[in-house]
Amino acid sequence: INMFELPKLDYSNSALSPIMSEQTLDLHHGKHHQTYITNLNNFIKSSEYEKLSLEEIIKKSSSENKAGIFNNASQHWNHNLFWKCMKPNGGGKLPPKLEDKIKKDFGSFEKFRAEFINAGVTQFGSGWCWLSVKEDKLVVSKSPNAENPTIHNMKPILGCDVWEHSYYLDYKNKRPIYLENFFDKLINWEFVESNL
Ligand code: FE
Repeated sequence: INMFELPKLDYSNSALSPIMSEQTLDLHHGKHHQTYITNLNNFIKSSEYEKLSLEEIIKKSSSENKAGIFNNASQHWNHNLFWKCMKPNGGGKLPPKLEDKIKKDFGSFEKFRAEFINAGVTQFGSGWCWLSVKEDKLVVSKSPNAENPTIHNMKPILGCDVWEHSYYLDYKNKRPIYLENFFDKLINWEFVESNL
């Protein structure tokens, strides 16, 4: 029987400050992410979903249009990836294998950076922007609310949360500035490369 639990962060809640403040991480990790997990556990309790893995729950609830289960399961998955995609003093130079792959699939690192940030800026309302592997190629995409690219046969290797709870305390309405800071100062590129 599956009871999902909030994963511990690899860094302290104050370690990403001032790019992402301690208060934002207290609420975003400790409250928002925890709420998705609590809801998910309540939804699947004593149901046919109870013994499935998180990935199986996402697939099944998506195909059966079970929005309550899907939204909470997908958000749990999304946030698990998101926390791993950041580290204190992140950003900077890419490891060579990832850098080569990005140059090959986007033309240049700068083109990829612009495309990724633009995907986050143009996601209307709550959602996510992603770098995923699709049929051996890297692609940038965006998704509304809880949706993640796995249901479209893509494998996300980098994700950024553009729900207001992710940036409003630190950046107010300035989502583009949040995305630039996330990209340039928080991304754990070694982790992203390890997902290739
Ligand atoms: Fe979030």
